[in-house]
Amino acid sequence: MDLKIGNKKENLIKRRCFILGIGLLATDFLLLLNRPLLVAGEINRPYEFTRSDEQWRQILTPEQYRILRQEGTEAPFVNKYCDNKEKGKYYCAGCDQLLFSWRQKFDSQTGWPSFWQPMFSDSIGTRLDMKLGYPRTEVHCSRCGGHLGHVFNDGPAPTYLRYCINSAALNFKP
Ligand SMILES: [Zn+2]
Repeated sequence: MDLKIGNKKENLIKRRCFILGIGLLATDFLLLLNRPLLVAGEINRPYEFTRSDEQWRQILTPEQYRILRQEGTEAPFVNKYCDNKEKGKYYCAGCDQLLFSWRQKFDSQTGWPSFWQPMFSDSIGTRLDMKLGYPRTEVHCSRCGGHLGHVFNDGPAPTYLRYCINSAALNFKP
């Protein structure tokens, strides 16, 4: 083969590899940006507190059942604890596990009760949620598996996390 043509081909391949490399790096970077937060990694472990579907329907109100057991979302701003500033603790409406404290609650202006940290990290489980077509981190009660809401990385210091929780999934005790 002509040496010149050989070099040209080699350069072309090198350039293609370089462009491909940049492309892959950009993709990695975008994936990194969109990477869902897995804060207290825990996937599909057996729950300590279990009930049959029939029993859940009896224990919970229809709204609590829709949120906790069917991963529903309640309407913003009109829910029970969105503006609650009382001192007290928030428990799981499904199994009564202690989840959040008023001390970590903040006004996120999103219309849902928001916390920058749960009281104990092992009381919250997380899993990847692709229901809206992009990755979000779903949060649920680690004791009964009841769906609570989602966690986002746009909260205040010191954690910069925002646990966006449905009021119907919680019971507040002053
Ligand atoms: Zn629970």
